[in-house]
Amino acid sequence: NTAAESSQPLVQDILQQFQFDSDDVRNVTRKFLQQIKDGLDHPRPWQLPSFVYQVPDGSEKGTFLAVDLGGTNCRICLVDLLGNSTYKVLQTKRMVPEHLRINPRYEPLFSFIAKALREFLDQHEVRPQTDCDSAAQSIPLGFTFSFTCEQTSISQGTLIQWDKGWDIPEALGKDPCAMLQESIDKIKLPVQVSALANDSVGTLLSRAYTTQEHGSTLAGVIIGTGTNAAYIERMCNVRRLPTPGTKRMHENIVLNTEWGCFDDDLQVLPITSYDRALDASSINPGQQQLEKRVSGMYLGELMRLVILHCHEQGVFNMVLDDESPCNRQYGLDSSLLSLLAQDGTVGCLDGAKAIERVLSAHSVTPSDARILTRLADGIARRSARLVGSALGAIIIQSGRFFDLQSEKATVQVTSLQTHQHDNPTPKHRKRGCELFSRISCYFKGFIPSPTESQVSGEKTLNRGSEQDVIDIGVDGSLIELYPGFEAHIRSALRDIQEIGREGEGKVRMGLAKDGSGVGAALMANAAKSIW
Ligand code: ADP
Repeated sequence: NTAAESSQPLVQDILQQFQFDSDDVRNVTRKFLQQIKDGLDHPRPWQLPSFVYQVPDGSEKGTFLAVDLGGTNCRICLVDLLGNSTYKVLQTKRMVPEHLRINPRYEPLFSFIAKALREFLDQHEVRPQTDCDSAAQSIPLGFTFSFTCEQTSISQGTLIQWDKGWDIPEALGKDPCAMLQESIDKIKLPVQVSALANDSVGTLLSRAYTTQEHGSTLAGVIIGTGTNAAYIERMCNVRRLPTPGTKRMHENIVLNTEWGCFDDDLQVLPITSYDRALDASSINPGQQQLEKRVSGMYLGELMRLVILHCHEQGVFNMVLDDESPCNRQYGLDSSLLSLLAQDGTVGCLDGAKAIERVLSAHSVTPSDARILTRLADGIARRSARLVGSALGAIIIQSGRFFDLQSEKATVQVTSLQTHQHDNPTPKHRKRGCELFSRISCYFKGFIPSPTESQVSGEKTLNRGSEQDVIDIGVDGSLIELYPGFEAHIRSALRDIQEIGREGEGKVRMGLAKDGSGVGAALMANAAKSIW
C-alpha cells in the first residue's frame, strides 16, 4: 500500500532530502566547470596531468605486467596487446587486508604486492623476453595506483593524499613506483616499474584501444569503491604546465580530474543530515565530498544511517538483530542497493529473506521491503545524477559537443586560415578568434575559448570521430551492477541545457573491461616510446 507508506512523513522527508532535480544538476555542472578551469590555470590537487599525450588507436603491441591497487583489491595482470584492438589477459586478484591499508609504514603493503607478484610470475612461468643482443631483460610493469598523485613524468609521481579509507602516513610525499620497485628489488624479481597509471586514465586508454571507432573516446569514468574521471584536454588550455617546449610538442594531454574531491570548498553539493554524519565520522572530514555522495564505499554507509534513523523512529516492522551490520560503521555494502533495485526482489518472499540475510534482521514485511527500496533508489539516483552533472561539465569543457554541432562553422574558420594563409599571421589569428567568439555567443558562451590549434586550422585529436559519437569508457561495480545507473546519468545529461537530449544521444558509454590492467599496460607501452 504505497499511499500509506508515502504518507509516512519521515520517509517522505528523507526522499525529499535526496532529491536532486534539474536545477541542482545545472548548478553543480556550472560550478564543476569553474573548478575544472581553475585546475587548468593553477596547480591544484585535481586536473592532474598524466603525461600521456596520445590515446591508443588499437595498433599497440607487446607484453606487459600490470598491478592495479584499487580501493579494495590488488589485481595482478599479464597483458598481451595484440595490436588489433584486442588483448589477452591473465589475472589474479587479492583482497588487501585492512592492516595494510591502515598502517604507519608503507613497506608491509608494498612487500605484500611484490610477493603476490612473485607468486603470479611463478604460477604462470612468466620470464622476461630475451632478444639476440641482450641477456634477460626485465618485464615492464604499469602500476595503476588509484590515489591522488601529482605526477612529474609518466613513471614518477608523489602521493598527495589517501582516500577510500586508506591511511599510510609514511607514504605521503613519496613516489608509488619507487616504493613498489624497492620491494620488487628486495626479492630480486626481473620487473621494472615503468609507468604510473591512474585507474581513470587507464580506463580511458583501454576504452580507446578497444573501441571500434578510434578517435571517439573522450573520457574514462570510474564508479567503484571510489570515483574518478580522466579526459583528453587541449594542451594549450593547460596553463598550469609551465614547460613551453612540451606544450608545443604535444597537442593534447590526458588529465586525471580527481573529481572525487570536487566541492571540498565550493559547497554546492546537496547535503543531508546523513551526509553530515557520514563526513564527520569519516577518516577525512571535509574532504572527498563528491566521492562521499557517489561511490561504492559510501553509499552503503549512507543507506545504513538512513535505515538506523528510520528504525529508531519506528518506520519499520522489521527487527534488527544485535549483531546486525546496521549497528557497525561501514557495516553495509553498497551491493544492498543493487539487490533492492532488482525487479522482483521486493514483495516476494525470497526478496524479504534476502533482505533479512543482508541486514541480519527478522520479520521484514513487504511494506518494509518497499520502503527500503525507495530509500535505496533515492540514494543511488542522487549518486548517478551527480556523476551525470560532473560528466556534463567535462563534456562541455572538451568542446566536443560544440565541435560536432558546429562542424560547418569550424570548417569555415579553418579554411579561412588555411586557404588564405598556410602560416597565419597574428592578424589572421585574431580574425579567426573573432569568428569563433561570434559562434560562441550563439551557443550562449559555453564554448571554451578557441585554442591556437583550432584557430590555425590544425587537426585536433579530440575533435570527435566521423561517427559523431562522444565515447566514454566506464568501469567499477556500481556502474556495472546497479540496475539503471547509466540511465540516471543520462537523465542528468539531458537536464543540462548545453547538452540536452541531442547531446546526450551522442554520448555512448561502454564498459572498459579489465580497464585498469589493460590501461596500465598501455601506459607502460607509452612509457617505452617516451624513453
Ligand atoms: P575497486 O573500486 O576496488 O577497484 P570495484 O569496482 O569492484 O573495485 O568496487 C568495489 C565497490 O563496489 C565496493 O565499495 C562495493 O561496495 C561496491 N559494490 C560491489 N558490488 C556491488 C553491486 N552489486 N552494487 C553496488 N555496489 C557494489
